[in-house]
Amino acid sequence: MKIDTQGVKSFIPTQKINELIASESHASESRIREIIAKSLDKNRLNPEETAALLSVTDPELKHLIQEGAKELKERIYGNRIVLFAPLYVGNECINDCVYCGFRISNKECQRATLTHQQLIDETKSLVETGHKRLIMVYGEHPMYSPEFIAETVQTVYDTKYKKGEIRRVNINAAPLDIEGFRTVKSVGIGTYQIFQETYHEETYGKLHPSGPKSSYLWRLDGLDRAMQAGIDDLGIGALMGLYDWKFEVMGLLYHTIHLEDRFGVGPHTISFPRIEPAIGTDFALHPPYQVSDEDFKLLVAILRLSVPYTGMILTAREPIAIRNEVLQYGVSQIDAGSSIGVGDYSAKDDESRRKSQFVLGDTRSLDDVIYELAQSGHIPSFCTSCYRAGRTGEHFMEFAVPGFVKRFCTPNALLTFGEYLYDFSSQRTLDAGLKLIDKELAAIEDPVMQNAVKEKLEELKAGKRDMYF
Ligand code: SAM
Ligand code: SF4
Repeated sequence: MKIDTQGVKSFIPTQKINELIASESHASESRIREIIAKSLDKNRLNPEETAALLSVTDPELKHLIQEGAKELKERIYGNRIVLFAPLYVGNECINDCVYCGFRISNKECQRATLTHQQLIDETKSLVETGHKRLIMVYGEHPMYSPEFIAETVQTVYDTKYKKGEIRRVNINAAPLDIEGFRTVKSVGIGTYQIFQETYHEETYGKLHPSGPKSSYLWRLDGLDRAMQAGIDDLGIGALMGLYDWKFEVMGLLYHTIHLEDRFGVGPHTISFPRIEPAIGTDFALHPPYQVSDEDFKLLVAILRLSVPYTGMILTAREPIAIRNEVLQYGVSQIDAGSSIGVGDYSAKDDESRRKSQFVLGDTRSLDDVIYELAQSGHIPSFCTSCYRAGRTGEHFMEFAVPGFVKRFCTPNALLTFGEYLYDFSSQRTLDAGLKLIDKELAAIEDPVMQNAVKEKLEELKAGKRDMYF
């Protein structure tokens, strides 16, 4: 793969972002209310408006923003939470990202790449706990060519085990060239995620000193190339702690606007992980722009309001209490029961920590997470229906098509949740879950839909699987 950035121009206006953050400072309460109302009316915010939200320091206005995000989430998306697990395929890496345990210069990292058989074993372990959706993660290395990525994804799809199989594989890997993206697309991937890490070019340069990732433009242009290869289901993200989080929120917004302007479709998901400690990685212990818990909550709410139709992913990097709180502000997907060491699901050993990229904040099992979600009134969902029925851009449809959530998302969440309960759950989760399903079924307003879901749930109980609307 040749890194070629000829003709690529940055769409991140660094100077303008700084000016906006400065000039929009101390927006009045009425302006903040207006901006929230615009978002609740299902409109993406413009950079001036997001900058105004970012400038807020008054606790009452912050509260207003968080309440606005909550309302948006409840009104549009309801109480479903989609669950997935990360699957680390290999941690070989030729880059030297200063914050990452996998970086080439980290002598404490134990390198590993799953063999074909290990990949099957890992997949079986995940299927056995009830997972249906994965994100496969790769370091950047010539070994992990597009053909290798495609092959490993295919292996996962081909692994049927006991009561289940993986039905959707998303990818988090290096940006490829257009041809490479085409190869990966051919095996039927879900979302291709690339995090820009920091949108601040100068900071980016310092933190990515060598390897292909040192090119800011190659990475920034990565999702454009994916689009050109026909992958229109994309995930963007910034690693919080590298630079001022307010700048990163603006960067994510500008990236969204760029994709919408150029391709008519924005990103499917946004990720906003905070840096976690990693073995042999001092930088990660003291990130220069550490984001406090309070700011993190505000950040999630502002992102929710700024891009109201984009899925938001919160990972198990975050501790349980934070996870529970920010779910309300508009998070739509979380991982659960996660292991992030290469080979960890099927063979945890003493060296696991040295094969892991960083340290997780939430190490509950999938069943425990599901139990707690059900107890707090969230419907855990393993739905993969839009992707398999060819309805791409599902998050946008949920948002834009009236009744979409009621017709598809909630029924499919209930069906996949029911499937989990009958096939994989503990007794206490089964009890709590069936209660929740009854309650949600009773709440379906349209009698025809209610009946259709009821019938399918009965078929599910009788042993039929993989049903969706
Ligand atoms: N190697 C590919 C890349 O860098 O794009 C994909 C895999 S990389 C393991 C996935 C993401 O992990 C990175 O994009 C980065 O944001 C995140 N990451 C790296 N070090 C981290 C740390 N110490 N804490 C939290 N997230 C980290
Ligand atoms: Fe390699 Fe990705 Fe880690 Fe950077 S973030 S060192 S590219 S695995």
